[in-house]
Amino acid sequence: MRVDCNLVMSNLTDFKTAFMPNWCPGCGDFGIWGSIKNALVEKGWAPYDFCMVYGIGCHGHMVNFLKSYAIETLHGRPIPVAQGIRLGNNKLPVVIVAGDGDTFGEGTNHLVHIARRNVKATMIVHDNQVYGLTTGQTAPTAQKSFKTKSTPSGVIEEAINPLAIALAADATFVARGFAGDIPGLTKLIVAGLNHNGFAFIDALQLCVTFNHLNTYAWYRQHIYQLDETHDKTDRASAFSKALEWGPKVPIGIFY
Ligand code: SF4
Ligand code: MG
Repeated sequence: MRVDCNLVMSNLTDFKTAFMPNWCPGCGDFGIWGSIKNALVEKGWAPYDFCMVYGIGCHGHMVNFLKSYAIETLHGRPIPVAQGIRLGNNKLPVVIVAGDGDTFGEGTNHLVHIARRNVKATMIVHDNQVYGLTTGQTAPTAQKSFKTKSTPSGVIEEAINPLAIALAADATFVARGFAGDIPGLTKLIVAGLNHNGFAFIDALQLCVTFNHLNTYAWYRQHIYQLDETHDKTDRASAFSKALEWGPKVPIGIFY
């Protein structure tokens, strides 16, 4: 790793690999991939200045499309691998990219503990409310009544609330972005990379193939940007914003 990594410019082509993404056309993964690369360029990092740690899911294919030190781990386990990397080399920035099944199904316990330990790492969750790679089963963030092939009559449970979990676990940076807003998501990722501790970013991601409820049109109608009237240092206020979902879905830095 270079010692002067923050002083050196990089550009988008530095992160190019020999492969092009195989995501479905219109998939929100493209927006998150673009936002991550923009943020890396803004940081001036080269591919050998950081390590990406992926979970399992459509998002995990990014390991092939973004040149860097990287490891694609087991389903639900990118967090412990990232913590191990930090223990081995605490100078190497770690970026965790995981899915909603990874993070809120099998890996929820890891999320709680990395947050309360405040391990320096940036986590970006691809939250599309379904298991896309396994062809469209219900994920823990799926809205109540959402119909998938595993819940043909509709989901009967309430959805997991990613931001409320992170806040309850004492995460020191909690944000939500939207894959359809690349400039906004880029800013959140840069802020996460600059944070001196655990940064959690839930990225609302379209699955155009298996989620026909939370579409681009749905998000455009419902999301709104948190503005300066929201006090990012007030945890109770962040909780209250995290509980908003439905007619209004806030994005931005909650805490
Ligand atoms: Fe994206 Fe869904 Fe296709 Fe997977 S199945 S690549 S999440 S649109
Ligand atoms: Mg998913």
